[in-house]
Amino acid sequence: MSTAVTRLASRLSRLGTETAFAVSAEAAEFAARGNKVYPFHLGDMNIPTPPHIIDATLRAMRDGKTGYCPSAGIPQLRELVADDVNRTHGTHYTMKNAVIEPGGKPLISKFILAMMNPGDEVLYPNPGYPIYESQIEFHGGTAVPYSYKEGAENFELDLDGIADAITPRTRLLILNDLQNPTGAVAQISELERLAEIVKEHNLFALCDEAYFHMRYEGESTSLASLPGMEERCLLLQTFSKRYAMTGWRLGAALGPEPLADALAKLNVNDESCSNHFIQYGAIEALTGDQSGHEEIVRILRERRDRCVELLNDIDGVRCFKPEATFYLFPNVTEVMKRKGLSDYSAFRKRALQKTGVSFCTRTHFGRPLEGETEYYIRLAYSGIDVADIGEALARFKEFAEAGE
Ligand code: PLP
Repeated sequence: MSTAVTRLASRLSRLGTETAFAVSAEAAEFAARGNKVYPFHLGDMNIPTPPHIIDATLRAMRDGKTGYCPSAGIPQLRELVADDVNRTHGTHYTMKNAVIEPGGKPLISKFILAMMNPGDEVLYPNPGYPIYESQIEFHGGTAVPYSYKEGAENFELDLDGIADAITPRTRLLILNDLQNPTGAVAQISELERLAEIVKEHNLFALCDEAYFHMRYEGESTSLASLPGMEERCLLLQTFSKRYAMTGWRLGAALGPEPLADALAKLNVNDESCSNHFIQYGAIEALTGDQSGHEEIVRILRERRDRCVELLNDIDGVRCFKPEATFYLFPNVTEVMKRKGLSDYSAFRKRALQKTGVSFCTRTHFGRPLEGETEYYIRLAYSGIDVADIGEALARFKEFAEAGE
């Protein structure tokens, strides 16, 4: 009998991952030992999908929408997605600019594959969603980080850092406004300056708008809405958060037609098409009653308010109140000092063991950059109810305010 030899391809050494899933596994193990866990670590949602979306999907299954469908998505949904974005963005997309994807995440690698040549430099946010860096490096590009800094009201884009990082090899920029993990929301003036930088250096941008509709105050603005930017942006949209459909896996891309065509061609090669009957659920999501979405936002706003209030009541914790996303990125530098810790992992594990509060830290969102002196953790409040938030943060306060 021959023994199979597993010789994995060398490119896998360049593939990163979402280390937040490892935190999940640790939390699950802690819970399995009979402990209560307060889950702030994953950006999943414990809010159900609005029932009329489920009904429309079941109807589509019964109506036989169970075969393959076009790789770019069913025409009716492509048209609706384009209209929906045009309404909020003031853009001019048609069905030909819209491609349906199995979630927002797969678009990140497809964007890189379609637009980046090996050796190109790509600007990406750090702290930021870890998949950008992973995919840039996996496909042979150079991932160049840019950062956020604490402003008066919230985190702000380090625009000077972005401008300074540009070289003749810089080709792409990834922007995740309404940002995971910081909750940063760019001011119009920041977006205007960013648009100028993009145009001046002839860059193309991926605008990851996963949280565009997870907005508690004010209105979201897209980089693509600014003059001359529609042709320089690809938009990542998703049904995951807006309609509490994370596990359904449905998203969309909107961008210039040649790029949309390239994405559809990548779809042919990858998954053939996004799930057929779910696209009918998505049609219902966009055209039906919006009170389900409004209720999701109401629930999350209440959680945000509670979390921010309780976190700022902890001696040594400083937390902004973001107008969007479902993430908080409190500064815990003083607490870590008090505990004599400079290792994020030790702090996180000790908090879990002592309190059951499970969260990610700054290190789950990219390697800390040179000169970083402050310490942050990330709390997602999308998967924990208000009552548990109160209990969890009371325990965390006791832990944080105690000495070593
Ligand atoms: N982009 C950001 C910034 C995210 O935080 C997420 C998910 O957490 C995604 C994209 C992908 O979402 P999905 O693939 O569920 O649409």
